[in-house]
Amino acid sequence: MVSSPRSPKAEISASGLTRKRVAALSENELLAFIQSVISDEQKMEPFYVLDLGVVADLFDMWTSNLPMVQPFYAVKCNPNPDPLREMAALGSNFDCASRAEIEAILALGVLPDRIVFANSCKAESHIKYAASVGVNLTTFDSKEELEKIRKWHPECALLIRIKSPEISGARFPLGAKFGALPEEVVPLLQAAQAGKFTVSGVSFHIGSGATNFRAFEEAIAAAKTVFEKAAQLGMPKMHILNIGGGFSAGPLFTDTASVVKTALQKYFFNEPCLEVMAEPGQYFAESSFTLAASIIGKRIRDELRQYWINDGIYGVHELFAVRS
Ligand SMILES: *Cc1c(COP(=O)(O)O)cnc(C)c1O
Repeated sequence: MVSSPRSPKAEISASGLTRKRVAALSENELLAFIQSVISDEQKMEPFYVLDLGVVADLFDMWTSNLPMVQPFYAVKCNPNPDPLREMAALGSNFDCASRAEIEAILALGVLPDRIVFANSCKAESHIKYAASVGVNLTTFDSKEELEKIRKWHPECALLIRIKSPEISGARFPLGAKFGALPEEVVPLLQAAQAGKFTVSGVSFHIGSGATNFRAFEEAIAAAKTVFEKAAQLGMPKMHILNIGGGFSAGPLFTDTASVVKTALQKYFFNEPCLEVMAEPGQYFAESSFTLAASIIGKRIRDELRQYWINDGIYGVHELFAVRS
């Protein structure tokens, strides 16, 4: 729910209050804050509280566990300007999927070289826009995409997006839609070579809401074979590895980070100039937002107490069932 854009009605801007705090709120402080908003403003509509202290803690956690991996926050995960501004101030870069997302980030004063246009199927008008504002790194996974890029932004540096092995147990696998199959990689690299594109590296996404972080190891291994194939084709040396999103903020994060570190060491130990980037979305958005909603209906059916709240995934009423 936190990752879907909210209607303005369902949000209040609590930033004036939360921004003063440097540390994340404890559960009791958060509850007290929510109570105060409800009583001060007689608020019955659902609203979110964004704890900027949590965002900062997550950023610290990222840099201490994965210092060699530069985060590009996936804007689509929550494009609310408050977390975007905070992420920019903390030094994050950004993964934008559309013109609107690029505009939102540039409006914060972030330079275009801190943005990756990480959508491997872009609208032509958005590619043209990226060229006009100097966003010079994007992904591709088809020859058709290369054609569009040739037309509107031929100087753009490219990352070939590969389909990552489907072992991540992701709630939202992305492989059906995005990523070159292993047998498509060489023909795509050849097409890029023939078109005189700059292919700077490889990108993948193990899937959102992943549970099996070994997927990172397999995907990093697969990316390494693409680096080797490019070298065999005589292409200029690749130097960027984009390990995508799929991170979660809970206790699993340190395990995930160590899988990533070990795999980088194992497969890329001989690439000292490698730049590693990632596109965490839910990692930053998931636990920094808390939704407060009111119970607006109840009934007992089949020994279940059922409650309705005034918020839901489509912005409509959602039912919570609790066994009595
Ligand atoms: C959605 C998406 C992300 C963010 O994924 P999370 O699982 O939320 O971390 C990153 N990169 C791309 C290309 C995406 O489509």
